[in-house]
Amino acid sequence: MPSTAPVVELNEVSKSYAEGDAVREVLSGVRLSLYAGEFVVLLGRSGSGKSTLLNLISGIDLPSRGTVRVDGRELVSLSEHQRTLLRRERIGFIFQAFNLLPTLTVEENIRLPLELTGRDSPASHGRVRELLDRVGLGNRAASFPDRLSGGEQQRVAVARALAHSPPLLLADEPTGNLDEETGRKVLDLLEGLTRQENACALIVTHDPDMVSRADRVLAMEAGRLVEREARA
Ligand code: ADP
Ligand code: MG
Repeated sequence: MPSTAPVVELNEVSKSYAEGDAVREVLSGVRLSLYAGEFVVLLGRSGSGKSTLLNLISGIDLPSRGTVRVDGRELVSLSEHQRTLLRRERIGFIFQAFNLLPTLTVEENIRLPLELTGRDSPASHGRVRELLDRVGLGNRAASFPDRLSGGEQQRVAVARALAHSPPLLLADEPTGNLDEETGRKVLDLLEGLTRQENACALIVTHDPDMVSRADRVLAMEAGRLVEREARA
């Protein structure tokens, strides 16, 4: 067990949704600690609560019970504005739909997290160019997203998520819209970049290759988070 403080810490987290008169508990008593440098895969059937868990960790949503800490800060005790700032500065998020801004070029999309956190500078342009090269799009900096293939757009999203060097990367089925081979390349990049940056990554994916390469494999089962044997 690493001696440093966890990047993510969930304690007895439950989340319920009202469904008519009934209340349905999607997450029950979830405990989780994630550390810097860990590449973690999250499995679970559709509707099992994977996206709900990611939304709680990113502070987009709040738990019904329990505590969520990111970088040692308790999200429930923060204002919505403080949670937004924490998310911008400390988290990179990759969605299934690539969510690139259509009116910005590839390079501008990647630079956006740096601008939002006040870190856009001549020096940071070097980092953006390096990320562009790392995701194999060095020659597409000035292109607009609608001129790129799905795989290329998701590579831009990977670079954008990491642009501001967040300690935590969350990805929710990032290859769900890609064919198997393209998806594999995106996941390879994601793994390579997060390991290079010593970030902590929590990736929802069903890719068996990623499952075998993950440091830890978690699964949502009937509202509970269970740890599977990794690299068996
Ligand atoms: P997964 O990502 O594993 O497919 P989700 O976390 O999206 O699952 O959803 C888990 C369950 O919670 C589903 O049954 C879904 O319908 C329900 N759910 C998610 N968000 C809401 C919401 N805002 N209101 C009511 N029910 C919700
Ligand atoms: Mg989901």
